[in-house]
Amino acid sequence: MEKVFSMLKSFTEDNGKLKFCITCGNRATSEALFAVGDGAILVEKYCDTCAEKEAK
Ligand SMILES: [Zn+2]
Repeated sequence: MEKVFSMLKSFTEDNGKLKFCITCGNRATSEALFAVGDGAILVEKYCDTCAEKEAK
């Protein structure tokens, strides 16, 4: 399944639960939205460093 980077937004924790970067496991500070076809949106959490790599 192809995913196309759509946008990056800063991520705020809800419920006081920490989220972790899916790439490196550090604390997530951003979430990236990807379009995956049929109007579906995939959201993945990243730390700042990995978010920059994804957001291109
Ligand atoms: Zn990371």
